[in-house]
Amino acid sequence: MNPFQYQRARDAAGAIHAVSPRSKFLAGGTNLIDLMKNGVEKPEVLIDLNRVALAAIEARPDGGLRLGALARNSDTANHPLVRQRYPLLSQAILSGASPQLRNLATNGGNLLQRTRCPYFMDPGFSQCNKRAPGTGCGALDGFNRTHAILGASEHCIAVQPSDMCVALAALEATIRVQGQSGERVIRMADFHRLPGDTPEIDTNLKPGELIVAIDLPESPYAAHCHYLKVRDRASYEFALVSVAAALDMDGGTIRSARIALGGVALKPWRAEAAERLLAGQKPTPELFQAAGEQAVNGAKAYRGNGFKVEMAKRAVTRALANAGGAA
Ligand code: SF4
Repeated sequence: MNPFQYQRARDAAGAIHAVSPRSKFLAGGTNLIDLMKNGVEKPEVLIDLNRVALAAIEARPDGGLRLGALARNSDTANHPLVRQRYPLLSQAILSGASPQLRNLATNGGNLLQRTRCPYFMDPGFSQCNKRAPGTGCGALDGFNRTHAILGASEHCIAVQPSDMCVALAALEATIRVQGQSGERVIRMADFHRLPGDTPEIDTNLKPGELIVAIDLPESPYAAHCHYLKVRDRASYEFALVSVAAALDMDGGTIRSARIALGGVALKPWRAEAAERLLAGQKPTPELFQAAGEQAVNGAKAYRGNGFKVEMAKRAVTRALANAGGAA
């Protein structure tokens, strides 16, 4: 690990004032410290946010909920209002990492998790456009069993590893950020970036911006939702494929649907065409299967991850069945 200076911020304004291109914000540190230990991240200054008052979880007058950026993942998943209004989010968070990690990891930090592509995580590999732009992509012709089937580019085929973010995408959360020029709101759909020809840039945060909260709009999906995670072992493992599925039912008819996939792209992948297919229909096994087929439309497999296309299709079908109680 490289030597670094440690600073403690007392409030958001102080943190934003202190940050520079040489520094990183430190919250739970569950990903950042690992990356510093293996030499992927080398900040010269860490600005500790843990004394900044951004951990509240509060109901909003519009029926939504505001999750503080520094609320711990455990506290968020187990909060009574999250469990009652957004069980999809609670399920997704609790499927990730381990209890110890969830006790430390924060909501803001979870949004900023970096890919676990092994070529990215180990500077011993020389080829990784995300870690060292212009060096190539070791995964393209190498180990790519866990990599993307949607939205990848010739420069990077990594996936975003968060479970929480998949539920946030399905729930159409918005991210509140503060910077030198004030506060702005980023739609969850616009927060993470596909790799294109700049895979080294994970998000649309501007330099020096601080995530202060995640806002959830009022949701009609609490009664019929399911987070399905398919992985190599039953706990403490990243998703090969995951699905956040939610249905708003009007009697026996689907009024609207939300589907987002994890483990398939460098951002949570909303399957909006599949959602449209479901709207106004009666839930049947055949309909959910058709939605599964639609959700992987345009998928491209690499040498080691062709199984993910069928897996994603079936996971969508199963998650919808579990959410809707049919099929
Ligand atoms: Fe690096 Fe992305 Fe290629 Fe992995 S997939 S080696 S993160 S460029």
